[in-house]
Amino acid sequence: MDDRTVKGRKGARVSETGGREEGDVYLDYQSAKPVDPRVVEAMLPYFTERFGNPASLHTVGDRATEALEESRAAVAALIGAQPEEVIFTSGATESNNLALIGYANRNKRAGDHVVISEVEHISLHNIGKYLAKEGLRVSKAPPDQYGRIDPQKVRSRITDDTILVSVGWASNEVGTIQPISALAEMLRGTGVALHVDAVAAEGLLPIDMTAVPVDLLTLSSNDLYGPPGLGALYIRKGTRLAAVTMGGGQERGLRSGTENLPAIVGMAAAARIAAEELPAEAARLTAMRDRLIEAVLETIPDAHLNGHPTERLPNNAHFRFEGIEGESLLLSLKDEGIWVSTGSACSSKTLEPSHTLISCGLLHEEAHGSLEFTFGRFSREADVDSVMEVLPDIVARLRHLSPLYRKV
Ligand code: PMP
Repeated sequence: MDDRTVKGRKGARVSETGGREEGDVYLDYQSAKPVDPRVVEAMLPYFTERFGNPASLHTVGDRATEALEESRAAVAALIGAQPEEVIFTSGATESNNLALIGYANRNKRAGDHVVISEVEHISLHNIGKYLAKEGLRVSKAPPDQYGRIDPQKVRSRITDDTILVSVGWASNEVGTIQPISALAEMLRGTGVALHVDAVAAEGLLPIDMTAVPVDLLTLSSNDLYGPPGLGALYIRKGTRLAAVTMGGGQERGLRSGTENLPAIVGMAAAARIAAEELPAEAARLTAMRDRLIEAVLETIPDAHLNGHPTERLPNNAHFRFEGIEGESLLLSLKDEGIWVSTGSACSSKTLEPSHTLISCGLLHEEAHGSLEFTFGRFSREADVDSVMEVLPDIVARLRHLSPLYRKV
């Protein structure tokens, strides 16, 4: 392994750089985020003097219950929900499992058909496969070339047996924002529930459950700069689920297992910070994103933007470079201390092209030539300059070597 990649170049305080060494450029916030130092500070007492099990009937347990419920209220406030509409899980994957499998199991009598958008995270596609094996009918709703799901395309798949539709708030890959309000309005009064995976959008876009009639909403702690390994599921009052995890009956019986109190307190601290900083942070990230997009499209020939030109996450710039492999680009950038992604980190170990890019109509070789830059809380304007100092030359060099690129 490259020594420099592990150790970084020059020492720098973690709190200033979000864990990077100064000089290194981390633009893969979609894959993982550092925990905000303010969050770590809030969590620390809950490992030691404020430990406790909320199920205990003594004072230590009471204090733990108080911290748990305060945290629930803070996470609920971020999305305009009531505290009792939020339960904590071990992460977004578990929230997605509980939402889809729990809803399907509890509402079997109403129907056996589920619609999942084609541009969802791999967890939802694999849950869809599981439901299909269990005998449900699972339909896919295709996106347009920008990764956007047209509510009419979803409507055309709904039958009398449809019980649930699952569409993410925004794509974690190409960054396209979905028309969730229009989808929710279209489904209002039909008896079909709407599940939204909001992981890619949380902390970046305002999410308000009083304004949008979503029934189930998945959140992740780390995507708010909270600790990894924790998530939440919003369950609108009146929405019925069957438990998927059996045990001691915690979290209204829907998610048994002793609560991870330090992480829950951390997610709450992260939610408070996100709520306060969101408008300014979204504007800051949008400016960096747009500067990178403009510079790449102006400077590098045969480069294209994947995803929607305007309806996109403030922190996402996703490109396709004709004639070269995203992997080679990623490795060349890694040599320069710039860390990016070719797509969803969760499936990056397979050689398959991204299902999201293919469903947007890209050819396999086009999908393979894609690269994703995601900015975050510790990104700086200078990061864009660092990328533009090296990317045009790297692209030119790789194209020179590529039998696929015939324009040099
Ligand atoms: N949904 C989306 C949109 C994601 O990007 C991810 C991965 N960060 C997940 C779900 C799954 O999250 P986790 O691996 O933390 O359970």
